[in-house]
Amino acid sequence: MKILVFGSTNIDHNYQMEHIARPKETVTSRGYEIHPGGKGLNQAIAFAKTGQHVYLAAVVGNDAGMLLDVMEKYDVDTRYLRKINAPNGHAIIQIDENGENSIFLYPGTNNSITHEYVDRVLNGFEKGDFIILQNEINRQDYIIDKAYEKGMVILMNPSPCDDSLKALPLEKVSYFFINEVEGAILTGESDPEKILDRMNELYPESRVILTLGAEGSRFRYKDQYCSQAIFPVKAIDTVGAGDTFMGYFSYGLSQGMSPAECLLLATKASSITVTRKGAADSIPTLEEIKERYPD
Ligand code: ADP
Repeated sequence: MKILVFGSTNIDHNYQMEHIARPKETVTSRGYEIHPGGKGLNQAIAFAKTGQHVYLAAVVGNDAGMLLDVMEKYDVDTRYLRKINAPNGHAIIQIDENGENSIFLYPGTNNSITHEYVDRVLNGFEKGDFIILQNEINRQDYIIDKAYEKGMVILMNPSPCDDSLKALPLEKVSYFFINEVEGAILTGESDPEKILDRMNELYPESRVILTLGAEGSRFRYKDQYCSQAIFPVKAIDTVGAGDTFMGYFSYGLSQGMSPAECLLLATKASSITVTRKGAADSIPTLEEIKERYPD
């Protein structure tokens, strides 16, 4: 069984500001950092950190050097990457003294997915292989249709969550990984149990994993339901918690674990992630999880 992440890559330009620039205003930044990002890349790294062999399909630009370096660092298989002569997707992020941010996203190469590219990538995969999707590239509808036709298992974190999502053939998704915000946009409900009920009505053939931050997580598929409380820890940075959760839940699935066992493993893993700063670097390996939570 193979695992393919089909998604976005971004170069994140972070500027430390005294305050976020207002219209007509020029503000001098106090600091600048550049980081690899994009939901597709983050998820590919999260999956790779579980020890799984992960292929990343993405269109990258002529300025993607640091992105390629990080893929190599974390052992992401890049044979399906396509490089074009255009600027990569990137984000301009202003962060003020209170940690508030303002983000400007230029999709760049993330909007350069073509039917021909999708066909070429999916040719390398077959029934039962996992495809991991988010909502940051174009041609998402075509990717879902083609992956479904092939009988691939479609795992989706529908983020960023906006109205464009509803035009997608989401009934073909095998596993949704959503948080409360995404659940509310998809269903119009805010109560977690109502989100699950409505997801079950809207997408009866899909399994739904709902993560609720410090309130733990839930799994729902038709009449099948289970929930998992968090492992209490001193959380210092929850960035990467959702990606860790999805990576380890899917790892569990690929090993034939039950949904309850997958929730438990993913919860252990993300409880470690939230005790560390950063995104990719904070995701634990399987050995670290076993060390921290020996059964
Ligand atoms: P997202 O970042 O996608 O919104 P969540 O915030 O729901 O994801 O977090 C995903 C999972 O990470 C939760 O279901 C939980 O298991 C774990 N988690 C999140 N916050 C904490 C916390 N403060 N302490 C322990 N575990 C946490």
